[in-house]
Amino acid sequence: MELFQIIDWTDDLSTPIVPSSDTREDETMTDTRMTTTAGAPVADNQNSLTMGHPGPIALQDWQLIEKLAHQNRERIPERVVHAKGWGAFGTFTVTNDVTAYTRAAIFGAVGKTTDVLMRMSTVAGEMGAADAERDVRGFAIKFYTEEGNWDLVGNNTPVFFIRDPLKFPDFIHTQKRHPRTNLRSPTAMWDFWSLSPESLHQVTILFSDRGLPVAPQYMNGYGSHTYSFWNAAGERFWVKFHFKTMQGHRHWTNDEAAQVVARSRESFQEEFHGAIEKGDFPRWKMQVQIVPEAEIARFDFDPFDLTKVWPHALAPLIDVGVIELNRNPENYFAEIEQAAFSPSNMVPGIGASPDRMLQARIFSYADAHRYRLGTHYEALPVNAPKCPVHHYHKDGAMRFFGSTTGNADAYYEPNSFGGPKQDPSVAEPPLAVTGPMSRHDHRAGNDDYVQPRALFDLFDAGEKARLYANIAAAMGGVPREIVERQLAHFEKVHPDYAAGVRAALVATIAAE
Ligand code: NDP
Repeated sequence: MELFQIIDWTDDLSTPIVPSSDTREDETMTDTRMTTTAGAPVADNQNSLTMGHPGPIALQDWQLIEKLAHQNRERIPERVVHAKGWGAFGTFTVTNDVTAYTRAAIFGAVGKTTDVLMRMSTVAGEMGAADAERDVRGFAIKFYTEEGNWDLVGNNTPVFFIRDPLKFPDFIHTQKRHPRTNLRSPTAMWDFWSLSPESLHQVTILFSDRGLPVAPQYMNGYGSHTYSFWNAAGERFWVKFHFKTMQGHRHWTNDEAAQVVARSRESFQEEFHGAIEKGDFPRWKMQVQIVPEAEIARFDFDPFDLTKVWPHALAPLIDVGVIELNRNPENYFAEIEQAAFSPSNMVPGIGASPDRMLQARIFSYADAHRYRLGTHYEALPVNAPKCPVHHYHKDGAMRFFGSTTGNADAYYEPNSFGGPKQDPSVAEPPLAVTGPMSRHDHRAGNDDYVQPRALFDLFDAGEKARLYANIAAAMGGVPREIVERQLAHFEKVHPDYAAGVRAALVATIAAE
């Protein structure tokens, strides 16, 4: 594969320049006069208003002040994680009947289509970070269903580094900048990972070939958490979501990625946006693993543990549909930077599970959007459902929409003015829980090695050699005690794993 073949589209000077979004909107404009935001025509957008010449600028130059004030407000807080992203719109089409498992309207009939928005992202890097960096990728999908927006906010990996959300801020601190040096800290990363053996599965994926994809369209997505389906008869099924790339997997090695980054920090955006602009629409096959509620007892591990997959032998993949992305955003900021995905956005027929990480994300994602975007962020065009919205939330930032109840007198509930009412027919079936309220030790009795071993056994000799080298390269400057602690975990996965990383470390040191 030619290293830079993917970004040739940018160099094709014979292609006419795509009109900007503003130009497209302008096609419907009859009055092309420039105006202020209040709609008043602007007489001069070139020269400030001065008191004499030369002379100081008059405070009265409201057009200058408006422009500077707007510029000062062009940024909103970037996401603490998943800051840098690439997104596009498209459709989801049902290809297989899963109505036996879920009453969700989106899956109502084979051939049915639903509009979607997808945003993929790196996790640790800030908005200006390079795309071709080794990192987990976010894989978020908003399905605009007729019964509300369903957001599936996953990753390109089926598992995660931790299983208890109490550790999430600690974990993310190790991925971000050191408070004194303001540099990323390999010591912090490996210290945390080596003290948290549940991270081993995800660490192995991160440093394998799939930890550095070429572009968003060449990677799988996973819902990662265990979710639930329930059908029209009120029967619950536990479910895992998979999105298999139909473009094939493509990855960079560390050396290739270094060359890509040296040429462009925006390689994902170039390849992803460019492909859609050319009509080369990326597609993913959606599949599910399904286990009836009562049958989950046959698992010999916690099926709600985010550090573990469901082996396909325990729950085979079932086809559901296909996602195709076929429309780039007209305005990146409005439609991708302001896109708000949250696992709390579920619809009748799709529910949560006792996965601790999912439980916490249901709170924290919506909370992040309230902070970043404002109270009524769901009313922004990109986030607004395409079905009617009838809620009783009242005022606050961005209350730019009118009544959501159909009657101004119906602004509380219950009311006598015909306001919208609850619908018990969409209630989720009750879930029985057992045991005392306690801080159950999530590490007790958990085997953190068997699934990384199953993955390690999938790798051929070349993949194993690259895994060892990638890990050794990431351990530069990490104290010996921490390295040895991590090698002890690799040893428990497979003696070859520890020996391979140790040899790669020796080779790296010798080469320095
Ligand atoms: P299977 O052989 O039935 O499935 C293997 C899975 O691993 C496939 O989903 C495949 O995805 C994926 N895979 C194949 N090669 C690689 C690779 N080099 N790096 C990362 N993923 C790869 O085995 P099991 O279901 O028993 O799982 C074995 C191990 O595979 C697990 O411990 C886990 O680490 C990994 N895995 C399992 C998944 C699952 O949901 N069961 C999902 C993803 C990974 P694809 O078809 O896209 O190639």
